[in-house]
Formats: sequence, structure tokens, C-alpha cells
Amino acid sequence: MGPPVSAAFPPLNAPVTSGRDRNILPHPPGPSKDSFVCSPLRCHPNPSILPLTKSSKEIFSIHKPTDRLFYQESLRAWLPPHILDCHAHVGLPGHCGPISPERRKAIWAIEVGLSQPWEELRANYQLLFPEQRVSALVFGGVYREIDIERNNAYVLAGLSSPENDAHALLVTRPERPASTIAEAMQQGFLGIKPYPDLAPQGMEQAGIFDFVPRSHLQVLNELKGVLVLHLPRPGRIGDPDNVRELLELSDTYPSVRLIVAHIGRAYCLPTAQRGLPHLADRPSIYFDTAANLNADVFHYALETVGPDRLLFGSDLPVTMMRGVREHVGETYLNYTDAPYSWNVSRKTPEEEARYTYFLYEELRALISALQRAGLGREAMRKIMFLNTAGLLGITSHDT
Ligand SMILES: [Zn+2]
Repeated sequence: MGPPVSAAFPPLNAPVTSGRDRNILPHPPGPSKDSFVCSPLRCHPNPSILPLTKSSKEIFSIHKPTDRLFYQESLRAWLPPHILDCHAHVGLPGHCGPISPERRKAIWAIEVGLSQPWEELRANYQLLFPEQRVSALVFGGVYREIDIERNNAYVLAGLSSPENDAHALLVTRPERPASTIAEAMQQGFLGIKPYPDLAPQGMEQAGIFDFVPRSHLQVLNELKGVLVLHLPRPGRIGDPDNVRELLELSDTYPSVRLIVAHIGRAYCLPTAQRGLPHLADRPSIYFDTAANLNADVFHYALETVGPDRLLFGSDLPVTMMRGVREHVGETYLNYTDAPYSWNVSRKTPEEEARYTYFLYEELRALISALQRAGLGREAMRKIMFLNTAGLLGITSHDT
């Protein structure tokens, strides 16, 4: 059974003891505590010795009452002291060109989170997880309006700042030569983040190998790189062609460290039920939870592929949006109080006043699914840190 949540919560005024509070380090003294991240390619000093810009107390004063209540009463006891987010976007507003009204209408997220400078990512983590240390696997924006090359360069530049506490993937265009991947990995990228919108066929028509060409996969396989894969096609992970290509990819390029984004875009249960069973016996295929807010899908994923293959992903900055999501059959409806062009269906002011961040809603759904599956904080710690750390070859002395 999961932990009895109400009993497990620390008192609201409990002292902060996580690695995120720089005055109280949880490690025993010794030479190992400064040797935090050691991937095959890069090493960071331990960021837990860096100064905080805001204290946890200050953060709590910024939170809206609904955020504070959720964090303190439903989330805090479930979070490990060190979180590893495997899916966040970083970029400057200037990296994006104009977006047409048609595109705004077709892709709701395009209007919500087009840019997130490094400083903003850190500030968002501090706001959302005020007592935890957060490391991240990041990449640039993925839409065709983005200046991908400039955005990649910006991401790479930020990796050298220890306070960013991050690794990164190169956003790739299918037409670029495979040698750019090898060069990028030499510079410090851990792998690639391709995206169907960058294929000439577009989101709806592209197959996996149209936007992740085999030549790219060949190089990635040789270098044992990471691939965060956003599935194409309207049927998402429930599309038999996606399943077939995923299995082929995993068979042909077995050294690629494969993360299927957003649980295969199975935001609704029937989609997950059509796709996940085909991938259940593939222990090398991982799934990130990014921007998925459906407890039924998480529960089904826990039962089908298990807690060892789920990885926490935030999809920041999109999930800083406040609101709720409703799932109806195979579609979902986002409700928010923000003035986006697509936001024409609103709840009552009383309901909107109770909105919190989409990311908190994602975590609420995940915790609810863990409880339903009879799993507790150990499974949460796997999903929030250990699984991704194992996949990326990261060790931490914080946990
Ligand atoms: Zn994303």
C-alpha cells in the first residue's frame, strides 16, 4: 500500500532539510559530496553549495493559497529531495519568429510556452519545488517557427553554468547531416530531440523515420545517445504504424536510450490501452510523464510497464499554465484563466480561483495513480529521480 498520506505529511512549519536549502546540507562531510553529476561526457560541481536567490519562506509567500495548499498538503511528502526532470524547454523569446493565427489555433501549446530563458527555468523550479534540488535534461523549442540553430547554441552555452544543473539534447532537423549529431555530442549534448513538426510532411502525415532519419539513428546508436521521441500521427501511441516503427527503432538501434515523450501522447485512457500493451515487454523503452494530467493513464502505465520505466518530465514552460484538463473519450479539454486566443470556454470565477499550475495537476494525477496502484514514495522517487539518473548515468549524493 502507499503511504498514508495525511499521516505522512510533515507539519507545515517543519524545518527545511533538503539539499535545496543551501544552509543545511544533508550530506555527511567528505570529498564525495562535491562530485555530483558524472555522465560519460560532462561533470558538474555540486550545485547544492550554490547560493539560493530566494529562501523557501519567500517562495511560499509568492505562492497563491491554492498552490501553497496543494504543495504542503498533497505534494511535499511525496517529493524526493533531489528531482530530475527529463523534459523541459529552454530558449529566448527572440528565437521564435511570427506565428500565424492558423498555427495558434492548431497547436494550443504554441501560444503558452514559446520561450523560457535559463534564469526563468531555475526560477520556475524554485517556485514549484521550493525545498528540493532540481536537475534537468533540457532542449530548445521544437516548432518550425523557432530558429533551431540559435536556440541549440543558447542551450549549449547554458550547460557550462553550474547553477543551471542541467544536461541537454540537440533539437534536430531531419535534413541536417548526421555528422552534426556527433559534433553536438562532442560539445556536450547527450543526444537528440527531434520533432514531427520539423518534418516536411508535417505533424499529421510524418512517420517516425521521416523526422528521425535512419542516418541520425545510426550515429546516435554508435554514441549511445538519448532520444526523446514525440510520436507523430493523430492516433498517437495507439496508431499501429507508430507501434511498429517504435519496435523497429528499438530493435535496429538497441543502444539508443529511448524515452517516449508524454507516455506516447496518450493523454486519454483508450489511447494508452491501444498502444502500451505492445511495448510492455520492452524494458529498454522509457516513457516520460510530461504534460500528461490523466491519473487513469498513469495508473494504466504503472500496471502495464511498471514504475521502473516512467520518468518525470515537466514540459516547462507550458505547464506553468494554471488550469485543469478534462478527458472525454479520446479528447481532452484544457481550461485556464489565461488570455490565450483559443481560451473561449471558461469555468466560473470561483472555479478559476482554485486553479493551480498544470505541473501540479500532473503530479496530483501521478500521486493519485500511485496510491491506486498500491505504490508509495519509493516508486515516486524512482519516477522523479532514480530512473532518469540511471538512464543518463547520473549519480547524486543527495539521495
Ligand atoms: Zn515538450
